[in-house]
Amino acid sequence: MWFLGTGGGRFVMVTQRRRTAGLRLVWGDVHIHVDPGPGALIFSNWSGLSPQKLDAIFVTHCHPDHYCDAEVLIEGMSRVTTKRRGVLAASRSVLQGVEDIGPSISKYHQGLVERIVTLEPNVSFEVGEVGVRALRAEHSDPATVGLRLDFPDVGSVGYTSDTAYFDGVSDGYRGVRLLILCTMRPRGASLPLHLSIDEALRIMEEAKPGCVVLTHFGMKMLNVGPEGEAEYLEAETGIPTVAARDGMRVILGDVIEVRGPRKREEPRVIEA
Ligand SMILES: [Zn+2]
Ligand SMILES: [Zn+2]
Repeated sequence: MWFLGTGGGRFVMVTQRRRTAGLRLVWGDVHIHVDPGPGALIFSNWSGLSPQKLDAIFVTHCHPDHYCDAEVLIEGMSRVTTKRRGVLAASRSVLQGVEDIGPSISKYHQGLVERIVTLEPNVSFEVGEVGVRALRAEHSDPATVGLRLDFPDVGSVGYTSDTAYFDGVSDGYRGVRLLILCTMRPRGASLPLHLSIDEALRIMEEAKPGCVVLTHFGMKMLNVGPEGEAEYLEAETGIPTVAARDGMRVILGDVIEVRGPRKREEPRVIEA
């Protein structure tokens, strides 16, 4: 799993203080891109992850730090528009528009994929052998969803996307091996309809994941330093917690290996 971008929110997106390219999940020869914000095309190619390898693109909601490069990735996935191919799974706001939000992927691009899935809470589907379930989120786009992915052999991965803390938010993520939390804000800086480290702590205590990666950092979080916030969460909960960096990789095997963007860095090995 590649963290191609770890920035979130308007200010970080516009300044590119962190990249906003989303996540590339690779399981065997199945490739899935999650939330391709601006930079997804460039940093996929830079990392040797051609968009033509994609089997699926997931867009959890209709904010540009999540959807911006989806259309060009669809052109890649469809073998540069020569073949109807792949799965596009996205919120209703992204595909059809909800209230005054969206849509953000043109009809033409929606016509280039083989299968479209509208992501609503509890909708589940498969990409190859990877099981996917959409989960409820509460965000300024009312159609936003979180995701739970079940990979054969290596376990499940949760991805909250942007959400508020609410009663039941943790239910779908309970017991996942790896939980990816979109923590835009640090401790003491809650923002309505987003996660700060304070809400992340509650979700970790409820969901009890094997380990946690924090990502989708906003400006306030970057000013405070995500590494220190990850250390705080790990000390409070006893759950191994990593602050994502642009270009970081997480490899799920018998253990979980976290590899920094630079080759000579020692990987962190987590028994989870
Ligand atoms: Zn966002
Ligand atoms: Zn958002």
